[in-house]
Amino acid sequence: MQNAAFEALGLDWRYVKLPVPPTLFAETVRALPGSGFRGANVTIPHKRAALELADERTPSADAIGAANTLTFLDGGGIEAHNTDAPGFIAALGEDVRGLKAVVLGAGGAGRAVAWALREAGASEVSVWNRTPERATELAEELGVTSVLRPPSSDLLVNATSVGLKPALNEAATLAALQLDEPARIVVDLVYANGRTPLLEWAARAGSRTVDGLEVLVRQGALSFERWTGLDAPVDAMRAAAASR
Ligand code: NAP
Repeated sequence: MQNAAFEALGLDWRYVKLPVPPTLFAETVRALPGSGFRGANVTIPHKRAALELADERTPSADAIGAANTLTFLDGGGIEAHNTDAPGFIAALGEDVRGLKAVVLGAGGAGRAVAWALREAGASEVSVWNRTPERATELAEELGVTSVLRPPSSDLLVNATSVGLKPALNEAATLAALQLDEPARIVVDLVYANGRTPLLEWAARAGSRTVDGLEVLVRQGALSFERWTGLDAPVDAMRAAAASR
């Protein structure tokens, strides 16, 4: 997706995967600018460590407590940012002000989504999690509400890994997420080839659905813009992501 974006804009840049063990994370990242890297995306389990090693943090990364985008600044130093939250809002493509939202999951993704929805003006943000204590803790920290069962809502977001591996059928997915009615808009952060069982169920009921691939593309586009200062070629990125 990022390489397709570089190619589309004629940039002689490369995006490469660097598997790094947690014990070598900070040392490896600090060596990257000297090797010509301009930035990095960071994923599980390094998002917290990325925030902690940075010299500068954007307010959103600080509030979410995790960074997925590091930028190596011209004058030296590392900036930590979080594009998961604004990427989610961009993928949604709709004003959330006044909407009642339910977030399923209180892990890293649930946290970014709950924060994004609160910031964007959702009238209610309820967080449900399989382990209720984690939802309570997240809700207290972010100033949202924790719930023991997902209530009815305008917007429902699956930010759990249910549906990832192993893939569950529709009945098992709904049981794991304690769902019995979809919302007008349903988002599944899990990326899959085609619709996940959750999105199949929601589409059948007439909901508007947004898939994890679109969220992935949008967060990637925002990282691209941060590193290059150019508008991201979102269509090229989406086509590349969808072809994998
Ligand atoms: P995480 O921090 O490991 O959190 C996992 C979450 O899933 C927790 O809330 C966990 O609940 C819940 N969970 C796991 N198995 C479950 C089950 N069988 N039943 C009910 N709940 C279950 O992971 P994460 O980083 O938040 O990622 C969550 C998902 O979002 C993953 O599928 C990831 O691929 C996806 N994601 C997508 C994007 C995107 O751009 N599309 C971005 C980020 C993440 P407990 O607390 O009870 O364990």
